[in-house]
Amino acid sequence: MDKRVQIVEGDITKQQVDAIVNAANTSLLGGGGVDGAIHRAAGPELLEETRKIGGCPTGEARVSKGYRLPAKWVIHTVGPVWAGGKKNEDHLLAICYRNALMAARDLGIKTIAFPSISTGAYGFPLERAAEIAMGETKAFLDGDKTLTKVVFVCFGEKALNLYHVTAKKVFGE
Ligand code: ADP
Repeated sequence: MDKRVQIVEGDITKQQVDAIVNAANTSLLGGGGVDGAIHRAAGPELLEETRKIGGCPTGEARVSKGYRLPAKWVIHTVGPVWAGGKKNEDHLLAICYRNALMAARDLGIKTIAFPSISTGAYGFPLERAAEIAMGETKAFLDGDKTLTKVVFVCFGEKALNLYHVTAKKVFGE
């Protein structure tokens, strides 16, 4: 296992990292799930800023401040809606992770936390999503010297166990 990678169970809005990643929608105007939780914890200034950003296409990432969050930054990315697997969903999910990690590098930050993008309302199968999340993160970290910590925040025990199993497959022991 890469020592920079951590898997925890909990609420991403509580993470003490430089940036948390939001599983947003293309409007960037907030929503349910983790998006709603992040907007509630950050306060109304977040919506003011994301309104000005003016949206984000699926697979891309946009940066805002974190306001009342412990994290200084929020990296908003828009995962694909699961449509059975034949609509380029795997690739779109992979580039969410890659673009968020590149945004973190551009910010010059060291620590970042991810939720399990697309696996809630957007219906992406969790196991498949976890493999993509970690595969993409491994590929990025193999060529990166700036990030010191990437946290995968699992919402619930089922996700936590699955992420641990996936980490063994992707990163080895
Ligand atoms: P999407 O629309 O991308 O599927 P959701 O917010 O519906 O986004 O779900 C994404 C993942 O975030 C799900 O696995 C869900 O269990 C998880 N989640 C929901 N709230 C939180 C939270 N506060 N912290 C971390 N993960 C969360």
